[in-house]
Amino acid sequence: MLPEVSSLWLLQLLRDIQLAQFYRPILEELNVTRPEHFNFVRPEDLDGIGMGRPAQRRLAEALKRHRSGLKSKNWVYKILGGFAAEQETTPPSDSLPCLLEAEGGHKCLIPEGAVRRGELLGSGCFGVVHRGLWVLPSGQSLPVAVKSLRVGPKGPVGTELGDFLREVSVMMNLEHPHVLRLHGLVLGQPLQMVMELAPLGSLHARLTAPAPTPPLPVSLLCLFLRQLAGAMAYMGARGLVHRDLATRNLLLATPRTIKVADFGLVRPLTGARGRYVMGGPRPIPYAWCAPESLRQGAFSSASDVWMFGVTLWEMFSGGEEPWAGVPPYLILQRLEKDHARLPRPPLCSRALYALALRCWAPHPADRPGFSHLEGLLQEAQPPEGRCVRDVKEPGSLRMEVGDPITVIEGSPSSHSPDSTTWKGQNGQTLKVGSFPASAVTLADWPATRPVHRGSPARGERNRGINDGDRTKVKLQDLPPAWYQRRNMPLPKMKGISKSLESVLSLGPRLTGGGSSPPELRHARAVPEGPPFLPPREPFASSSPSQVSQPPRERPPWPKREPPPSHPMGAPGASKATGPSGGFLPDPELQRRVMEVELSVHGVTHQECQAALRATGGDVVSAIRNLKVDQLFHLSSRSRADCWRILEHYQWDLSAASRYVLARH
Ligand code: ATP
Repeated sequence: MLPEVSSLWLLQLLRDIQLAQFYRPILEELNVTRPEHFNFVRPEDLDGIGMGRPAQRRLAEALKRHRSGLKSKNWVYKILGGFAAEQETTPPSDSLPCLLEAEGGHKCLIPEGAVRRGELLGSGCFGVVHRGLWVLPSGQSLPVAVKSLRVGPKGPVGTELGDFLREVSVMMNLEHPHVLRLHGLVLGQPLQMVMELAPLGSLHARLTAPAPTPPLPVSLLCLFLRQLAGAMAYMGARGLVHRDLATRNLLLATPRTIKVADFGLVRPLTGARGRYVMGGPRPIPYAWCAPESLRQGAFSSASDVWMFGVTLWEMFSGGEEPWAGVPPYLILQRLEKDHARLPRPPLCSRALYALALRCWAPHPADRPGFSHLEGLLQEAQPPEGRCVRDVKEPGSLRMEVGDPITVIEGSPSSHSPDSTTWKGQNGQTLKVGSFPASAVTLADWPATRPVHRGSPARGERNRGINDGDRTKVKLQDLPPAWYQRRNMPLPKMKGISKSLESVLSLGPRLTGGGSSPPELRHARAVPEGPPFLPPREPFASSSPSQVSQPPRERPPWPKREPPPSHPMGAPGASKATGPSGGFLPDPELQRRVMEVELSVHGVTHQECQAALRATGGDVVSAIRNLKVDQLFHLSSRSRADCWRILEHYQWDLSAASRYVLARH
């Protein structure tokens, strides 16, 4: 059996004193995975696994040496030698074999003189990273990043060395297009890791770069998320948990390629539950951690998924710090007792935020897996479109014909379809704002169309557009998959350039409504506890398989709650809005907005205002519409299903959520 990465130190320590035969009994019967666990092991326990007293004395001596950090360079070599010989290894890349074979068959050893260090790129807990040049035996040189173990006055000790070696041993076995590659190790003073260079630095640095560096396009952030989900699915499949997913640990290899890096906290998942439980207090990135990690030190692929949600949040908030200003000891309380979640960032569409909320489900089992996330991200991708008429009105997002537009949200601003506005990002200027829906036609943009545009500066960035594309795309020209991906009945596509409501199934939205205030918000109703399930499925289901069925087979679109004259309207909810959207007197509007806000978890003030506006001030209808939205974003169900499920549960969003999550 292969040794677990986290207990390699034990194997090596026992080997050094010729007691390797006790590795398994100590690990499995005495449950020792970390040196400090020996503090609780009694001589009788060691007797029990058949270790004689002289051997026990040798072990005690070795532990003393281990703790005092008296390790020779040779010890380091032995750890890696022992590990490399026994671990399953991945074939080296094309560029490596000659070198690796030249190094006595050791896969990862690089001679000290073959690597030249250059400028400092950054530093972490246990190492500093330099740009470097690795001269291959062929004479060819390869730009690399060199991470050197930080060495104190008495040399590297304890956890720093352990973490460094763990990072090496993990990286040695990983090979994925979105996982940073380890080229090899230099057994010098200091010990150095030679890694693939990510010349553009960390994603966090890019997100927080000051002007004039432009912000990143939303569509690119979505691409990064898919790359990350793919890399994490790969790591999960290899039984590893990363434990430190964050934009600071995503490196940009090219402008459109991220690589997961920093494997110092990676651990193998063990046991039937596929978890890793920390053996003692160690620094962990609190604000990124799932509740079970904060409470019990438990990590799993599901806790990585939670961190993925926080990383998504970072990306769409321009690299802001999650839970900034909240002391670490309060974060768990906020998450568990207050059910608080990070707020929706302005750039994040509702569908993507809904996905983040699913990643932040209280129970690990309710979170989507990484392989499932890849598909969900595809579905939640904000639609891409193209400007079909110049927009120059003050207050609107400026755009010119042909500009690629990413639609972040649709927001009918009044009852008149002509004045429907959407919120989006102009891929040309990278500015975000609202604009008349009629100015943009949606389409599936082929990402690699040739560029052709008036001014070279604009044209250069204008990927995906050419003159021919400027012809307005007719609805019937859109590929069927486009509708199907969005779970959208075909007839709803009529007038698509006028209203995005049917496209995103978002319901009423206020222009710019994504700009949630930065204060903490309550999570949407993701219930805790065992799900209550009705005895049989009482609702028409829209399982993923149905999504690809012809749209006409779908259940009919539920009618929105009617305007105030409807009998369901709240008593006293008088017709309160004029056609221009001129609304209720302010105090009454505020009262109703408050009522809606208090009734539906996780909605913003602006969303409530928009919902009220769309129902002519009818509070009950607004609440119902928002609840349908919430449930829709929480599940893969159609809105029609969500409506029926909520009706069945008498509009109890919590019970309805529990139902859909249990069926997820
Ligand atoms: P820690 O290891 O303590 O969690 P960290 O992630 O900041 O912290 P390192 O992995 O040591 O630490 O990296 C330090 C910095 O060096 C990173 O923030 C990154 O900007 C840069 N860096 C690391 N690896 C590379 C690389 N392969 N290519 C380019 N830059 C890198």
